Amino acid sequence: SDELKIAVGAMELADKVVEQVMTKIDDVFMLPDETILNAKTIAEIVRIGYTRIPVYSEGDRNNVTGLLIVKDLALLDPDDNFSVRTVCGYHQHTVKYVFNDTPLAIVLENFKKGDGHLAMVKKVHVSEESAEDPSYDLVGLVTLEDIVEEILQAEIVDE
Ligand code: ADP
Repeated sequence: SDELKIAVGAMELADKVVEQVMTKIDDVFMLPDETILNAKTIAEIVRIGYTRIPVYSEGDRNNVTGLLIVKDLALLDPDDNFSVRTVCGYHQHTVKYVFNDTPLAIVLENFKKGDGHLAMVKKVHVSEESAEDPSYDLVGLVTLEDIVEEILQAEIVDE
């Protein structure tokens, strides 16, 4: 039954980790912070259709510094040619982070507490020199939608 599927899906959240359900970084639509929000780029952003777009600085996709929410563009005059950096600086939506190996049940709890419902996924970067401080690579993006999907699509294997 659907109810059983949902219950099993919910229980499995403890065993599954972010990396299994996230959108991989190469498939994440992001914008460099120097992007000028003119009529052309705004139309492109709307066409692509995501509600939230991670914003990166210094040309480095590993350096996400903000989040552009598409509805922030509604009151923008395209002729003002504001940059993504300016719009992000005005709204200051905080970017959440989770580790790639965080269990989905934990991520769900975090999403329930906050309002963002989106997090960037980071992974410890293993470097040759062990003396170095650990650095992180961004490996993906996860939203509440990815977790709900996992709950609803649980497969019940009869063993
Ligand atoms: P949206 O409201 O933009 O449709 P959802 O939170 O409903 O986003 O997520 C739908 C799917 O799109 C999820 O798999 C999520 O990981 C993915 N997603 C969300 N934002 C982005 C983005 N900027 N680039 C790529 N994938 C994204």
